[in-house]
Order: sequence, then C-alpha cells, then structure tokens
Amino acid sequence: MIQVREQRQSNYDYRNHFFIEPQDILGIELECVKCGTKLSLKPGGFGRRIRECPSCQEVWLEPDTQEHRLVGKFLADVEALNGSLEGRNFTLRIQINRPE
Ligand SMILES: [Zn+2]
Repeated sequence: MIQVREQRQSNYDYRNHFFIEPQDILGIELECVKCGTKLSLKPGGFGRRIRECPSCQEVWLEPDTQEHRLVGKFLADVEALNGSLEGRNFTLRIQINRPE
C-alpha cells in the first residue's frame, strides 16, 4: 500500500494524480516474469548480488550493465534524498498515477 496525497488544485483532474514524498518510498519490488517470485529492496539496499531470480535463477540484471547501475543508483538516490531534504523550507513530491 502506497501512502498518497491527492492533488487538490482546481481546474485539474486530481482523481488520477497523486503525490508521494521520498520518505513514502519504502522500496522497490522486482518480480520475475518467468516464475512470479517477488523480491523487495529497500532504499540503499541494492548490492551487486542482485543478478538473478532467487527461485528459478532467470537472469534479471547482468552486472556492469547500465540497467544494473541505474537500479542501484535509484535506490541510493532515494535514500540520499530522504536525508538531504530534512529541515528544508520546501517539500519535494513525486507525482504518480492512481495506484491500482
Ligand atoms: Zn524466477
């Protein structure tokens, strides 16, 4: 379940748009398209060990590829944002579609 904040501006279809803050991001989920196994990773919790499905060993991310680096960077950036935005005089929010 994602904690969301509805946008409440007038002249805008707020029903389909929500905002979350970086601290609302608890992690990401990787789901194997072959066997359906899901793996949750917390911000900052990505290591080089994430290469393949833990159940069926289908390769998900080849080490030293751009996508491998980007997944790790995304999780590290979320963790860094949470720390660096504390006490600022603005709030950063990420706009998302309505969760299904
Ligand atoms: Zn699998």
